[in-house]
Amino acid sequence: MTPAWHRTHNHRFYRLTCEDYDERFESTGNRCELCGVSGPRSAHRQLYVDHCPQMGPWAVRGLLCGTCNTRLGGYRSQLTEQDRAYLAAKPWIAELCAREGRPILINEPRAEAVVLVGPRRRRFRKTDIGWAPERLDAKTKPRSWESLHQAYGPRQLAVGLSREQVRRICRAAGL
Ligand SMILES: [Zn+2]
Ligand SMILES: [Zn+2]
Repeated sequence: MTPAWHRTHNHRFYRLTCEDYDERFESTGNRCELCGVSGPRSAHRQLYVDHCPQMGPWAVRGLLCGTCNTRLGGYRSQLTEQDRAYLAAKPWIAELCAREGRPILINEPRAEAVVLVGPRRRRFRKTDIGWAPERLDAKTKPRSWESLHQAYGPRQLAVGLSREQVRRICRAAGL
């Protein structure tokens, strides 16, 4: 239904699957959630994925036309009453997380935990200089929990058990 977006899968930058994007696109009828203009008739001929810049690209709020999206990123004094209500309402990501039974903010796990990161669930562990992939590569720098969370968000971070934890659980169960 939205071939332009799926040609490049731009929605993946916002950590949205094709299904997530299609669902919202269909429920809004391809209209800006603030002014109601239809995507193809809007200034940039398409709707944008609006997100909360403080939380991260995954913190999606809704689909907006370019004009409304730009206005939200501008001066607070220029926001309309409707803009303020939109910003105060629960964002779309909250709905997605609630449905999947996850909190929006995941606190930093204990140092011995393993964190599964990204769509391919790469294993990260805490090191002296931050969270780093178990299998190091030249491109991935260790980073703070805040930075990891900002980049991936709650739906692409999962806390797993380390081998030591599994061993301890087995030992306690007499296995
Ligand atoms: Zn897609
Ligand atoms: Zn609009």
